[in-house]
Amino acid sequence: MKYCSTCGSQINDECLICPTCGCSTELGKEKLTATTTKKSSAALVCGILAVVFGALGGWLGVLFGILNLVLDKTKKYRALGIIGIVLFAVWIVIFLFSL
Ligand SMILES: [Zn+2]
Repeated sequence: MKYCSTCGSQINDECLICPTCGCSTELGKEKLTATTTKKSSAALVCGILAVVFGALGGWLGVLFGILNLVLDKTKKYRALGIIGIVLFAVWIVIFLFSL
């Protein structure tokens, strides 16, 4: 057993959230950070793919761009996803004008 650092209630070692006050326990905070880190590296990969496919004019640029925006909770790599989508939009415009 351990105690909540926020309200001092006794909580189970396995608990991620304190049942009394609803705050994250130390373990909960650790897990949250680990998940966020994992997600942001996935967001970075999606962002890079968005730019690459977007630059090539592929619809995958939009797909990875959206994935990047969804995964990127920290908004660190958000620009990459947006660039990918914008690049694809540019290709659409070029395509429409060349008809
Ligand atoms: Zn608590």
